[in-house]
Amino acid sequence: MAIAYIALGANLGDPASTLRAAFAALDSVPDSRLLARSALYLSAPVGLTGQPDFVNAAARIETSLAPAALLDALFAIEQQFGRLRGERNGPRTLDLDLLLYDLQVITTPRLTLPHPRLHLRAFVLLPLADLDHALSIPGRGTLAAWLPAVATQGIRRLDA
Ligand code: AMP
Repeated sequence: MAIAYIALGANLGDPASTLRAAFAALDSVPDSRLLARSALYLSAPVGLTGQPDFVNAAARIETSLAPAALLDALFAIEQQFGRLRGERNGPRTLDLDLLLYDLQVITTPRLTLPHPRLHLRAFVLLPLADLDHALSIPGRGTLAAWLPAVATQGIRRLDA
């Protein structure tokens, strides 16, 4: 069994509900089990502004899927939530990123581990810190060491 960390983000429809449902979907991935979930965070969009704020979170799972198979499972969940569900609830989008898979370092065209930007983003680091403040990021030291650098990024912890 491996331990993997996954980032969740959504900014359309009812993002908090989407993320809660996405945690359940992660627990339903074959040969995998949800071990822990972070709080939900509200963050300003990076890059393309003029779109709604994001709700972000992180999950720790236990899995016997290989990294590439786990990524396929994440894509399948994204598609399940990205589907249009009619007028009433509007479009729902969900972004899932594979952040860490044990201490593996992988560089292939479709999968880079650790996720190449995870140490630069408050909306990834703060939820991850909820799960394990002392987490090691292969090639980048500990998660805690990167927190001061993102302290000025606008992010707010939501009430459970
Ligand atoms: P995005 O739509 O921005 O989430 O990017 C998804 C693309 O990034 C896909 O083509 C993936 O194959 C690629 N990718 C590379 N490394 C990762 C990773 N660690 N987690 C998720 N997607 C990844």
